[in-house]
Amino acid sequence: MVKTKDTKALLNQCLRELFLSTMRQCYADLAVQAQQESLSYEQYLLGLAEQECITRQNNRIERNLKASKIPRDKNIDTFDLKRVPAKVAHQVRSLLEGFFVDHKENILAFGNPGSGKTHLLCAIGQELIRKGRKAYFTPCSLLVQELLRAKKELELSRFLKKLSRYDALIIDDIGYVQQDRSEMEVLFTLLADRYERSSVMITSNLPFSKWEQIFKDPMVTAAAIDRLVHHSVILELNIESYRMEAAKKNKNKKPDGPAKGSK
Ligand code: ADP
Ligand code: MG
Repeated sequence: MVKTKDTKALLNQCLRELFLSTMRQCYADLAVQAQQESLSYEQYLLGLAEQECITRQNNRIERNLKASKIPRDKNIDTFDLKRVPAKVAHQVRSLLEGFFVDHKENILAFGNPGSGKTHLLCAIGQELIRKGRKAYFTPCSLLVQELLRAKKELELSRFLKKLSRYDALIIDDIGYVQQDRSEMEVLFTLLADRYERSSVMITSNLPFSKWEQIFKDPMVTAAAIDRLVHHSVILELNIESYRMEAAKKNKNKKPDGPAKGSK
């Protein structure tokens, strides 16, 4: 008969070989618990396997959050939903469920600078990842430069394929930079490539009526807008800048008299 000491050593070795590190860490404690609660062998094994699954899932989420390049502090806990119009808050609650990526729907967030577009889409992106999806955040200007470089190196289709692995691509500040023709062409190629295949989430300070500034040509502009809005949710954040509001609040808070400590 194998001695208990040998059993533990062998079990540790097996679990290490099988890369079941959480099971290796938990099995002894859970065995004591299982004995106390008179669990069946299957229940004990299930408890162990569940622990392994939970750790792996958490690790996967952590990896995907890191790979997404989404700023961590822009999450839903730090976003004040009460600041946005009731309609938008309602839309956001539904978007946080993440089903829009199953329907390959796009999200288009419009509004003044500082209205919270970037923060909001980042928060939705982070929730997607927590639900097991993949998302990637990129400023539009950087994305365009990468697309151009890929095109120059005859790697454009490979690059688009790489991006297609993400359920949602967050393109921040479309139209902020004045694209020239070659820039708008690669951007259009990307949007056409993702159309009805995977979601894009776009923030823009420019309403559609000014998108010709981005795509130059009226036909291309119409084609781009048409593809984007076909299956989309539009978030209209026509509210005051958060920074401006915060600055005003701070100013109002200041006492009229000299500040504490001053002479
Ligand atoms: P936009 O992309 O519309 O220009 P941002 O998302 O960059 O605006 O928001 C500007 C700043 O204000 C950021 O620091 C952001 O975190 C903060 N902010 C904006 N809206 C909110 C909100 N509703 N709750 C919390 N912070 C917000
Ligand atoms: Mg922004």
